[in-house]
Amino acid sequence: MDLNRYPAEPYRIKSVETIRMNTREERERIIRKAGYNTFLIDSEDVYIDLLTDSGTNAMSDRQWAGMMLGDEAYAGSRNWHHLEGTVRELFGFRHVIPTHQGRGAENLLSRIAIQPGQYVPGNMYFTTTRYHQEANGGVFFDIIRDEAHDAQAELPFKGDVDLNKLKGLVDRVGAGQIAYVCVAVTVNLAGGQPVSMGNLREVSRYCRGQGIKVFMDATRCVENAWFIREREEGYADKPIRDIVLEQFSYADGCTMSGKKDCITNIGGFLCLNDESLFQAARELVVVFEGMPSYGGMAGRDMEAMAIGLREAMQEEYIEHRVKQVRYLGDLLQDAGVPIVRPVGGHAVFLDARGFCPHLKQEQLPAQALAAAIYVEGGVRAMERGIVSAGRDKVTGKDHAPKLETVRLTIPRRVYTYRHMDLVADTVTRLFRHREDIRGLKWAYEPRQLRFFTGRFEQL
Ligand SMILES: *Cc1c(COP(=O)(O)O)cnc(C)c1O
Repeated sequence: MDLNRYPAEPYRIKSVETIRMNTREERERIIRKAGYNTFLIDSEDVYIDLLTDSGTNAMSDRQWAGMMLGDEAYAGSRNWHHLEGTVRELFGFRHVIPTHQGRGAENLLSRIAIQPGQYVPGNMYFTTTRYHQEANGGVFFDIIRDEAHDAQAELPFKGDVDLNKLKGLVDRVGAGQIAYVCVAVTVNLAGGQPVSMGNLREVSRYCRGQGIKVFMDATRCVENAWFIREREEGYADKPIRDIVLEQFSYADGCTMSGKKDCITNIGGFLCLNDESLFQAARELVVVFEGMPSYGGMAGRDMEAMAIGLREAMQEEYIEHRVKQVRYLGDLLQDAGVPIVRPVGGHAVFLDARGFCPHLKQEQLPAQALAAAIYVEGGVRAMERGIVSAGRDKVTGKDHAPKLETVRLTIPRRVYTYRHMDLVADTVTRLFRHREDIRGLKWAYEPRQLRFFTGRFEQL
């Protein structure tokens, strides 16, 4: 194996968790019982769990040691001061509000910064982000470059904002009708695709000129920084820390899911520069999350997060992280399996339209493919297609996204290259008898974020 292309793990293993493979007959029974929804399978019934990289990270010995330093005071915990100081230093924002996870921060931001009827332009949607925007009367408007919706377009920064789309909207409705611009780094649903520094700079310059605020969805900001260093001119020798800091210099604040690039299992926060928005968020956080000095997290969680955030900036860590994901993508690509190109930072996205050309989008190909992968080899993945996209709030019709994908998401520091071999083998085997994958229809469709708990039947 080429150790530059696929570096060895920059850590050694101190504690292990046993996993067990069940039989194909058992898995067929389990997936039927779960209504063909991989979210409804028990963890014990999964061999390799690539459902999400959210909260599934392995903490370091230092983080575990930090857990013992939890100051569980209701107010003024010392771990809060540690976390607040770390975030201010590494992100460069003035104010930090802790929340129980990323969506807690999205809830607060949407409540304080959106007037009903205002637009919230974003570089593609994320499920919980858009939910909170719409629940507060906002209208999501997609401003990602067109190529992001094309699974095969091979571009270094497929997550970039198309500035003309943003300008077109502002010219049409007026800057006063824009709540704020939301830029996600990286773009999860586009395949973990990065946004270039040049694009962040341009968006910021334009928005500042128009008096429009920019908030970043910072969930995978360290992975994004790594791609900037790998692909953008002028960044090859810059430390990851400096790149992260520069990214945020183009924003007025951010929402953060601590369950991703903070390498922890729970938590999140909201960052703001503006004083009056900060006051409003401090008033609301006590209603939904807790005191402004814990926001739904235990002291020990905040300590682990402060330590994890610093570890995430380590060069060897982030290089291995991104390249391990790429390794899985390369194996699948070499086997002829259709995937979203290029491979992003946290996951390999299978192109379900290419994988299951015999299924129409109404037959929920990505949902069916995720279920079939589980039956094939005990690997759990997630649908990111028409089921996740949900229905239009106004018309009640299904959003029908161009990208119909299954996400194989790699938890941080959890699995080895050999596990990736096993995943690639499972998917490749299934690909050889893909015409056996049967379409699905809804058996129970929840009204909110339906992909989490929805149930299906085979056609
Ligand atoms: C996970 C995620 C969120 C929401 O964060 P939670 O901690 O799961 O609430 C928001 N945006 C993106 C891009 C995410 O991946």
